Amino acid sequence: MSAERIEDLRAQIRDHSYRYYILDDPVVSDAQFDALVKELRELEEAHPELITPDSPTQRIGAPVTDLFRPVRHLRPLFSLDNAEARADLEAWEARMERQLGRAPSGYVCELKIDGLAVVLTYRDGRLATGATRGDGTTGEDITTNLRTIQSIPLRLVGDDVPAVLEVRGEVYMPYDAFEELNRKQAERGGQIFANPRNAAAGSVRQKDPAVTADRKVDIWIYQLGLIEAGPGFTTHAETMDYLRSLGLRTNPSSQRVATVEEVYNYVARAEKDRHRMPYQTDGVVVKADSLAEQTTLGYTAKAPRWAIAYKFPPEEQVTTLHDIRVNIGRTGAVTPFAVLEPVFVGGAKVSLATLHNQDQIALKDVRIGDKVVVRRAGDVIPEVVGPVTAARTGTERVWEMPATCPFCGYPIVRAEGEAVARCTGGFECPSRVREWLFHFAGRGGMDIEHLGYKTIDLLLEMGLIHDPADIFTFDVTQLLGLEGWGETSVTNLARAIDAARDRPVSRLLTALGIRHVGGTVARTLALRFGGLPALIEAAEEEISGVEGIGPVIAKEVRAWSLDPDNRRLVTRLAAAGVRVVDPVDEAAPGSDLLAGTIFVVSGTLEGMTREEAEAAVVARGGKTTGSVSSKTTALVVGESPGASKTRRAEELGIPIIDGETFEKVLEQGPRALP
Ligand code: NAD
Repeated sequence: MSAERIEDLRAQIRDHSYRYYILDDPVVSDAQFDALVKELRELEEAHPELITPDSPTQRIGAPVTDLFRPVRHLRPLFSLDNAEARADLEAWEARMERQLGRAPSGYVCELKIDGLAVVLTYRDGRLATGATRGDGTTGEDITTNLRTIQSIPLRLVGDDVPAVLEVRGEVYMPYDAFEELNRKQAERGGQIFANPRNAAAGSVRQKDPAVTADRKVDIWIYQLGLIEAGPGFTTHAETMDYLRSLGLRTNPSSQRVATVEEVYNYVARAEKDRHRMPYQTDGVVVKADSLAEQTTLGYTAKAPRWAIAYKFPPEEQVTTLHDIRVNIGRTGAVTPFAVLEPVFVGGAKVSLATLHNQDQIALKDVRIGDKVVVRRAGDVIPEVVGPVTAARTGTERVWEMPATCPFCGYPIVRAEGEAVARCTGGFECPSRVREWLFHFAGRGGMDIEHLGYKTIDLLLEMGLIHDPADIFTFDVTQLLGLEGWGETSVTNLARAIDAARDRPVSRLLTALGIRHVGGTVARTLALRFGGLPALIEAAEEEISGVEGIGPVIAKEVRAWSLDPDNRRLVTRLAAAGVRVVDPVDEAAPGSDLLAGTIFVVSGTLEGMTREEAEAAVVARGGKTTGSVSSKTTALVVGESPGASKTRRAEELGIPIIDGETFEKVLEQGPRALP
C-alpha cells in the first residue's frame, strides 16, 4: 500500500516539477505541491527501505532540458528546508545547537524573492556564463538572455577582481512590469502568466534574447558560490558586502541579527510589509552567519543545515470552479463571481471570488468546471486569476451572461460600447437596493455609523426600509429586544442616522450613487446648483456647461433626474429632514487653494476615480504628475496603490495620504497635510 502511494506521489511530483520548472505553467499551487512532497517525505521516513536515489526527496529542482546547452555548476546548489512557524525556527536552532555544542553566533535574514534561481560565473572579472539552477548540479545556459538584464554587470567593478567567482541570485519580475507584460500579452493574444515568478522564469528561458530584453526582469544576488584567488571571509554578511563592492546587486533589506527571537521579529515585519514591496516575496531565508559554523553544520542530501526558508502562508491556491453567478451592484451593474470548492488561501477559507466582469471572463477564458488559480492577498477581495487549462477534461462549460436578473427578473442589458451589463429593475431589484443602501450609508456616502450590511439586511428583512429615504423615517425602536439590539445600540444607531441628516449636499449626491458622480463631480455640482431641487430641474446643457463636467456625466445626471422614482426620493429625503440644499455661505474652494503644490495619485480612491482626483487638484491651481520625485508635495494612495510609488515616497520622506486626508486637503488646502 505505502509502496504504491510512494510511487504515485513520486510520479505526481515529477510531473508537477516538469510543468513548474520547464513549462513555467504549473497546474497546482505551491502549497499543494509542497503537501505532496511532505506526504512523500513522511512515508519515506516511516519506510526508509523504500527510499530510492532518484526519489524527488533526494534531489533538487528541475529536470534539465536539451533546449539549452548544459552548464555544470562549480559548486552544487541545494534546496532549502522550510519553516512555517516560530516553533520550526526554534527546532532548527536546537538542531544546530546539538551539532555545534552551542547556538550559532548570529543569523542573516534575507527576503525570499519569488523568482528563479540563477548562477553567474565571472572569470577574470568578466561574465562567462549565466545558468539556471537546473537539478542543482547542472543547469541550462541562458547567458545571452541574462546579459540583457541591465543590473547584471558584464564586468565586475575594480582592478582587484578574483580569478573565478560564482554567485547565485534570484531573477524576478517586479509587479509593475508583470502587470504591464500581462496587459500586452492579452492584447496580442499571448500567454497570460499566473504570477510574477512564472513570468520571470518564462522570460529568461527564451530562445530569443530579444524577448528577454523586452521584459523588465531584474536580479538580487544572495549567495557566494565559489571564489578563487580572492579575499577570504569569516561570515556570510562579509561575503555579501564584498559582492556588493564588485558591483553585484544585493538586497538592502537583509539584516544581521543575534537571536532566533530577532529572526522571528524580522519575519513578522517582512510578512506585514509584504504587499508594500514592489516585487513578490514568499518568505524569509535565514542563514547562520559564521562560515566556520556553516562548514561544521554541512548539508543533508537536499539542503544546507545552516539555512532555512521561513515561508509566508500561501496566497494562491488551485481549486475547482463549480459555478459562475452574478451580483447586482448599487448602480445595477452585474458582477459575475465564482462559486468555488472551498480552499484555504491567504489565511482564510475562500468559497467565493470575484471575476470582475463579462469581458474578463472571456479574456481569461474561465469556464464552469475549470480548475482555477484563486488569489487572496492582504485585504484585497479574493479573485480568480485564471484557469489551469492543462487540467481541462472537456466537460467544462463556457458561461453566458443571464438574460434576466436572478433577483428581480427584469432584463439584463448591456449598452453598446459599455464594459458592464446592467439590471434594469431599479428600485425593484432587491440585490441592487441592498448594495445601494450599503453604499449610501457607507464611508464614501453619508457615513452612517452602525449601519453596515448586517443591519441593512435586518432592516430589509423586517420590511422597515426599501430605499435611502426610509433610513431617516423608520421606527428605530422596532429593533429593541432583537438579538444584539439593546437600548444602547438602538440609541447609537438613531444618533448616527440623525447626524447624517446634515451632511453637505455633495455627500448626499455621492451617496445617491448616480453613475459617474463621485466626490469631485458631486462637489462641483453642489457648488454650482446649491442643492438637489435646482439640480434635478437643470437641463442637460446647463449641467454640461459647468466647468469640469463633461457631456457623459451631464447625460447621466439628467437621466437620473427625469426618473420619477428618483424625484420622489429627493422629495422624501427633504421631508425627512435631510439637507438637500447647502447654506449659501458655505465656502467655495478657492481656485488657487493648492497653487504651488504637486500631487501624485495612485490606486483607486473611494468615491473618486484617479482622473477626478487629479482634476480636483488642477481645479484648485495645483499640479499632478505620474511619478514621485523630491518635488512631490504628497502621494495620495487609494486601494491597491503602485508599490514602487509608495516605496519611492517613503525613501524621499514625502507624505503619503489616504482618501480621507485628501478630501480635507481639497477643502482646506495644504494646511490639512500631516
Ligand atoms: P526552496 O523553496 O527550497 O528555496 C530555495 C530557493 O529559494 C532558491 O533556489 C532560490 O531560488 C530562492 N531564494 C530566494 N531568495 C533567496 C535567498 N535570499 N537565499 C537563498 N535562496 C533564495 O526552492 P525549491 O527547492 O526550488 O522549492 C521549490 C519551490 O517551487 C517550492 O516553493 C515549491 O512549492 C515550488 N514548486 C511548485 C510546483 C508546482 O507545481 N506548483 C512544482 C515544483 C516546485
